[in-house]
Amino acid sequence: MSHTLFISDLHLAAERPRINQQFFTFVRDVAPAAEALYILGDLFEYWIGDDDHEEPLNDAVAQALAALAARGTRVYLMHGNRDVLIGTSYAVRCGATLIADPTVVELPGARTLLMHGDTLCTDDLEYQTFRRYAHDTENQRKFLAQPLPARRDQMRGMRAQSEQVKKEKTVAIMDVSPAAVEAALRAHGHPRLIHGHTHRPAHHTHCVDGHTCERWVLADWYQRGSYLRCDAGGCTMVQLPSGLASPE
Ligand code: MN
Repeated sequence: MSHTLFISDLHLAAERPRINQQFFTFVRDVAPAAEALYILGDLFEYWIGDDDHEEPLNDAVAQALAALAARGTRVYLMHGNRDVLIGTSYAVRCGATLIADPTVVELPGARTLLMHGDTLCTDDLEYQTFRRYAHDTENQRKFLAQPLPARRDQMRGMRAQSEQVKKEKTVAIMDVSPAAVEAALRAHGHPRLIHGHTHRPAHHTHCVDGHTCERWVLADWYQRGSYLRCDAGGCTMVQLPSGLASPE
């Protein structure tokens, strides 16, 4: 049956060869049977600009996705909070279409709202302030105008700081706010919602204004790769074979 695949939060990085390999295997062996592959943010652990050709992983990922697109699977790319600086030129190299967060798509069986998920974490005020800074086009322009080594250093500093900050936050504050989820469902006419970001894979049901809405939360790939497969009959979370997995 015609189906669509969704992944997010792979956090690909040169220092994570096992996850990178799972991604390449998934793109080569699993994704070609799908009509479309939606990557809902944080494909990469960090992104310092489309002109970063010093990191071979970036080109390898682009080639793998372009090969998938050439075989007939449409590839869609949404920014996460880690790779918000991915630009049109990299998307073109991937044979992918950059899509906005949020985006509504008409899929067989259900109109579906796609988000990365970070905009739903409205209780984390500190993060939302940072998000506004990171999405500001003038700040982005200034960052990208720097030489690559300076960008790399700055990004390393921000990643370390973010890890430290996360340790100090409660689990609840970093999850989605139920009110924000309801508001998003209401604003988009009560669709099905698929998002990632929180690393809390689950299938939720929300009752909003008398409508029952499904919410699928995609898994991160730290422990094990997985994807969501949707067709006219509904969605299923699928884990990739564990044979590839070993602690990193
Ligand atoms: Mn994220």
